[in-house]
Amino acid sequence: MYDCIIVGQGIAGTVLAYTFLRNQKIPFVINAEEFPSASQVAGGIFNPLTGKNLVKTWLADDLFPFLHTFYREIEKVLGEQFLHSMPIYRPFRSIKEQNEWIAKSTLPEFEPYLNTAVAEEQYSLDVRNPYGGIETLQAGWIELPKLLATFRCFLEKKSLYFSEIFDYSALQIFSEKVVYKGIEAEKIIFCEGTRATMNPFFENLPFNFAKGETIDIFMKEASFESIINQGISIIPLRKNTFRVASTYSWHKLDWEISQKARAELTEKASNLLKKDFSVLTQKAGIRPATKNRRPIIGLHPRMPQIGIFNGLGSKGVSLAPYLADRFFKHLYENVPLPDEINAPT
Ligand SMILES: Cc1cc2nc3c(=O)[nH]c(=O)nc-3n(C[C@H](O)[C@H](O)[C@H](O)COP(=O)(O)OP(=O)(O)OC[C@H]3O[C@@H](n4cnc5c(N)ncnc54)[C@H](O)[C@@H]3O)c2cc1C
Repeated sequence: MYDCIIVGQGIAGTVLAYTFLRNQKIPFVINAEEFPSASQVAGGIFNPLTGKNLVKTWLADDLFPFLHTFYREIEKVLGEQFLHSMPIYRPFRSIKEQNEWIAKSTLPEFEPYLNTAVAEEQYSLDVRNPYGGIETLQAGWIELPKLLATFRCFLEKKSLYFSEIFDYSALQIFSEKVVYKGIEAEKIIFCEGTRATMNPFFENLPFNFAKGETIDIFMKEASFESIINQGISIIPLRKNTFRVASTYSWHKLDWEISQKARAELTEKASNLLKKDFSVLTQKAGIRPATKNRRPIIGLHPRMPQIGIFNGLGSKGVSLAPYLADRFFKHLYENVPLPDEINAPT
């Protein structure tokens, strides 16, 4: 008997499955490779200070030390590199902003996350920064498709994975276990991203999905090795290739790329970059965001053999490791989940 069946292998299912394994529990993962996945589209950025006004991410002091250790450890286990730690450089928009952010950087709660002594010359050739800029530390990006593919192979070698569309009607629920097509486990946890709305076990989940698009660009002789952020983020992927991420839209929630998003990203990147570039590819996806921007995690109120780990919104990379650990401790040590999390209904 397995400890848990996990449905879905985006970043949520991947991180949760690995959390079970690192705690000597055995998960079995079922994932439909034919469904789109937000994790395959995401920029993969983790960033402790977000938004125009540098707001500290919810739980940042817990999430960020934890995620570095977590991703480094999984890299070691899988024998592949996909964690790219690097600062996020934010050119100031004005002298006023420069003053405000420099003042903010002296506050104790921001001090571990901000560097004001920026070597501006590394950016000046490529980026418009007439007022200089500031760097956010403990940041970077994760190559999600590589992490997900490598972890899938790892699970397959251990016979802990298969690819199919989960058939909800085939799940048998007993008081001490669940059985799905002959696979027995103590619990089942759904990590289906936006497809959670099809799940008959959970109703009225407080989702507020947000569509997003990215473009990859080719830019010759650009040499910065940090993420550049001002309204959009420009991520150095490899030599001469960068990802521009991302748009937000709450209308027309499909997985199709659009001209409108391409134009918006191109214009914002042109305003920020000094060099010409051409667009290589474009991707679109839907973030499993919630109304109060907090995840949905917990066990079913009447069927404690069934759980959910979802609602990671636009921050799956930074939220998943710490919250999977908290969920695990909740399941096995009865430790309460963080207060603001949405409990499933
Ligand atoms: C344009 C864009 C940019 C983004 N940028 C960032 C970023 O920079 N940093 C960041 O942290 N986040 C970012 N995000 C958000 C991030 O993508 C999400 O937080 C994260 O991917 C959610 O992961 P998930 O595992 O919950 O869902 P998904 O990645 O969608 O995975 C769900 C999985 O469940 C499977 N599944 C669903 N239903 C079934 C079923 N019935 N049977 C079997 N399998 C099933 C699907 O096939 C899929 O593999 C971005 C999102 C978008 C769209």
